[in-house]
Amino acid sequence: MDKTQDVAISRCDYTDIDLDSLLAPLGGMRRFVKRGERVLLKVNLLSASEPSSGVTTHPAVVAAVADAVQREGAFPYIGDSPSGRFTRKALEKVYNRSGLDRLSRDMGVELNYDTSSKRVTVSSGKKLKNMPVGNFALKADRIIALPKIKTHSFMVMTLATKIMFGTIPGLTKARYHSMFPKRNDFADMLLDVLSASTPDLFIMDGILAMEGNGPQNGKPVELGVMLASEDAIAMDLAVCEMLSIEPELVPTLKRARIGRMLPSGINYPLLRPEEAGIKKFKLPSTVKKAKRRPQPTENCTGCGKCEEICPRNAIKLIDRKARVDHSICIRCYCCHEVCPANAIKLVR
Ligand code: SF4
Ligand code: SF4
Repeated sequence: MDKTQDVAISRCDYTDIDLDSLLAPLGGMRRFVKRGERVLLKVNLLSASEPSSGVTTHPAVVAAVADAVQREGAFPYIGDSPSGRFTRKALEKVYNRSGLDRLSRDMGVELNYDTSSKRVTVSSGKKLKNMPVGNFALKADRIIALPKIKTHSFMVMTLATKIMFGTIPGLTKARYHSMFPKRNDFADMLLDVLSASTPDLFIMDGILAMEGNGPQNGKPVELGVMLASEDAIAMDLAVCEMLSIEPELVPTLKRARIGRMLPSGINYPLLRPEEAGIKKFKLPSTVKKAKRRPQPTENCTGCGKCEEICPRNAIKLIDRKARVDHSICIRCYCCHEVCPANAIKLVR
């Protein structure tokens, strides 16, 4: 990509978010939304988790963005297809635990319950020429994506380039894990998904992030930063620089480089990445060459979520305990990601 991209970085916590200052170098919210438009706030709602767990986009960030959109006379609504089945019941649980139903009541912001989808053609797609995309994303006049800084045991980091995977409905996401078991192929697929419905603006929640074996069962860590950019790849490169992560370790960025999708340069109108003052950040243990295998532990409650999500049917519940057939496991770590009891360890 022959274009320099702006990435605004600022330090803050959940009680003093100054979104106007963060967006000012990009032209302010008015550059991205117009009066009367319906604006999807595409949050990261991986699972029904409390905001303090660092799993989901924090409601304080969502509230700040919703407020800025409303001030422009537009109508924000919140949507995502979490891990597992895409049903009204599942959404109710996720909205409740993540604090978004309260935000919805307090601010009059709509929560999406439309679980229908439509096939979208991506003629430039490397791995997918067409795919089902949730109508909640397709019907938006504008999309503002609100990713979170988190590690990901399979894709190393889950940032802006992966956020639109949540527009793929329900268990189709697990099927794509099965179709693309190699990291590079999966990364190409994620870039195809991003191009199917590209957000107009990305605002990253890096205030409470997650390190270690994310995106569900890693360790919450306070980084105290937010980022804003029009470009997902520039934003993810900025996060890597801020956290001292080699971009080639992140498959989406590696594949974006090979596909000549990187910006020609990044301009930092506020803080530079090194000025964010982040000293250390722990990557997933799976980054090491020997791929770790998922091993259920005695903490397994027999809920069956891992069995349901596993794209290779490698998990069976035996005597109400999960058992993995490692001979067919493709190490996608979906089971680790959905386990509500943190009962799956990644072992050598
Ligand atoms: S998701 Fe976790 S707790 Fe539930 S059956 Fe699987 S290993 Fe056990
Ligand atoms: S057992 Fe877990 S890591 Fe292995 S294929 Fe199934 S979901 Fe993926």
